[in-house]
Amino acid sequence: MTANYSLYIHFPWCVRKCPYCDFNSHEKPNGIPEHDYISALLADLDQDLLRNFVASSTMEVGSIFMGGGTPSLFSPKGIDYLLDQIRQRVNLATKIEVTMEVNPGSISPGSYENHLSKSLISKSGETEPLAEEKLAGYREAGVNRLSLGVQSFDASQLKNLGRIHSPESAIRTYQLARAAGFSNINIDLMHGLPSQDLTQAMNDLQHAIDLQPEHISWYQLTIEPNTVFYKQPPSLPNEDALWEIYEAGLSLLEKNDFSRYEVSAFSRPSFRSKHNLNYWSFGNYLGIGAGAHGKHRQGKAFSRSTKTRLPADYLASPNAKYSLVPSSDLLLEYLMNTMRLVDGFSYQQFEENTGLSRTALRPFIERAKTRSMITERGDGIQPSSLGLQFLNELLLLV
Ligand code: SF4
Repeated sequence: MTANYSLYIHFPWCVRKCPYCDFNSHEKPNGIPEHDYISALLADLDQDLLRNFVASSTMEVGSIFMGGGTPSLFSPKGIDYLLDQIRQRVNLATKIEVTMEVNPGSISPGSYENHLSKSLISKSGETEPLAEEKLAGYREAGVNRLSLGVQSFDASQLKNLGRIHSPESAIRTYQLARAAGFSNINIDLMHGLPSQDLTQAMNDLQHAIDLQPEHISWYQLTIEPNTVFYKQPPSLPNEDALWEIYEAGLSLLEKNDFSRYEVSAFSRPSFRSKHNLNYWSFGNYLGIGAGAHGKHRQGKAFSRSTKTRLPADYLASPNAKYSLVPSSDLLLEYLMNTMRLVDGFSYQQFEENTGLSRTALRPFIERAKTRSMITERGDGIQPSSLGLQFLNELLLLV
């Protein structure tokens, strides 16, 4: 029997840390140790394969997601080698989705701070390829989906957000990606930005729609602990303004045939992200790279892996901690993922994916139905629009 998996690969470096970012991303002005990091990633994968007790011959990887950090600081040659080595270790599905997050500031000429990333990369001793060569190189290496971190098309907002690219370089990167043969592109866009009003937010969204990507991730800026914005909070739109933006954005996306399938994910038909769907459906995934997480089912138990977080420590030894998910956490963990999905889940999926009986859901269902936060259909449940909007409140009912 085949065991289906996704593979997440974390790249922990960025040209500059954005003030809102709480990801495991670090500035490294003296250059990226590309070769050593890729070796560490492969050692990490080997230990996961050994430890997970899943014969790699029966494992099939349906999606790979390279996230960060900024994976596009790595060279096409490095990515090609990495993907090739992965192919030698695990079976990849014929129609595998291979996504790479791309920061336009690490790719496209014309970025007002592109020189920063250039100086950072050139420390490797290799000549930096032209933007189009770089994108074509990723495509040839096997990347077939790009996720562009645009965040806004407004130059002053990009400065507020500490981004290293301009609106023009984001658009240029998108066009070059199309020219390089990418037919599946996501644009990451934020709303609820400092002092943003409804018109500005809708202009941003319209810009993204006009480019005609296959997928848009449209999510609200939130202030997270351990960020610069947490210590020096910017002035954000009030609750009423945020609500207005949210409602208008959903309607604009729908009018333009972007179908919502997750809290913040909107796609053209058949372009839902396989990787994220597997994650939100509580599927098995391996996570390699500094600070990466993995999770998979072993019989009736669920095993979790967490990798060494700091890049320097990870490079020294890519250690992993493996633990079992306590059965008391299982219901909440399952709902934290699946209640993000517009279609929710079926009771059959719930029983297959958790090993729990559907009766375990009943108290949550009754509480959530009373508050109109879910809809119960014949074969399962799904969040209502209220439940999607107030997901944290919905999960408090578990
Ligand atoms: S580019 Fe992305 S990962 Fe890097 S600091 Fe900014 S938000 Fe974080």
